[in-house]
Amino acid sequence: MTVAIDGPSGAGKSTVARAAASAVPGMIYVDTGAIYRGIAYTLVTDGTDISDADAVKTALDGIHPSIDYVDGIQHVYINGEDVSDRIRTPEISLATSKISAYPAVRDFLLETQRRIAREHSVIMDGRDIGTIVLPDADVKIFLTASAECRAKRRCDELAAKGTPVTYEQVLADIIKRDKNDSERETAPLRQAEDAVLVDTSDMTLDEAIEAVKQVIGGKR
Ligand code: C5P
Repeated sequence: MTVAIDGPSGAGKSTVARAAASAVPGMIYVDTGAIYRGIAYTLVTDGTDISDADAVKTALDGIHPSIDYVDGIQHVYINGEDVSDRIRTPEISLATSKISAYPAVRDFLLETQRRIAREHSVIMDGRDIGTIVLPDADVKIFLTASAECRAKRRCDELAAKGTPVTYEQVLADIIKRDKNDSERETAPLRQAEDAVLVDTSDMTLDEAIEAVKQVIGGKR
């Protein structure tokens, strides 16, 4: 079974998708954003000029991403090195949004994502899973929430981790990423025609998980 969950940054896709996957025996959760982040992290640390699409394209030849699961948690490896704990900074978020607009980067990861879905029963989350990566997915969900809600949740998360940031800064980053992701020419963020819309603005996390489980359950 393949479940595609798309939506903007901070809509809770990963938390909701992970919880929904754990309720279905044999199903794995695939966070495609983490793979894009691993690529961006490597480009930035290697000093590649990420504003230069050709330089990024050339650099991809030396980048070999893979994923694996450690205690049920997805880890991202680049050339065999686990980069998972270095890819969640605001700098890498924006760099990821930038490089993921390049067709060369999207082509590079397309087959990797499709192969994972062929080999496993998956809930895969991202921006173009239902539209481009898995257009024949059994279930498609577009998970969203207002930018203000998403910013507030992200602030609360960061404060709980001991790294508080201002609401205004988080909201500005979210709006910028939404704009990058939905206005790019290649594989923009948009709801697939056959996707079920789940707006979590007024839902608790448990309610959002339940809503997604119901959509999946209805198709099994
Ligand atoms: O999902 P996450 O916020 O970790 O993704 C980081 C960035 O990676 C997104 O803002 C988006 O630009 C890009 N991305 C993408 N396509 C995907 C997953 C992520 O373009 N399937």
